[in-house]
Amino acid sequence: MLTERCQQGGARGRQQSHKGKITTMELKGSCVCGAVAFTITGTPGGMGQCHCARCRKLGTSTMIFVKRAQFRVTRGLDEIATLDPEAPFTYRRSFCRKCGTGLGEPLSPDESFPINAQCLDDDPGLRVSFHEFTDARPPWEQPEEAASG
Ligand SMILES: [Zn+2]
Ligand SMILES: [Zn+2]
Repeated sequence: MLTERCQQGGARGRQQSHKGKITTMELKGSCVCGAVAFTITGTPGGMGQCHCARCRKLGTSTMIFVKRAQFRVTRGLDEIATLDPEAPFTYRRSFCRKCGTGLGEPLSPDESFPINAQCLDDDPGLRVSFHEFTDARPPWEQPEEAASG
């Protein structure tokens, strides 16, 4: 017998279960060609989506924020190329020299920095919780909550 608890109408067949069980996890991530790989130990700080043209073009719009102590490049440190920003931008952008995959800021000297969430091979359990530069959103990219004025 199925319990009725999960059979609320209107749900679109997608449920996120929070199992409430916290274990130290290790997330793996890599670029498209595999030359660069990294691990994140423990839960990242948060996930956000930036809609600015720079992040879009580099393919790093969705980012997770990690702390230095929990992040480690496990392969291909020498394959990471960095694009220094032109003022007024301050964030460096790094990518794989071989395949061009945007990585975020794996070489940042800061205590906390963004990593391209699209590079994750594992589910961090986080979902996008904030949006930046929504005014820069291109016309073909519509917010899911589609509140048109
Ligand atoms: Zn690569
Ligand atoms: Zn951005």
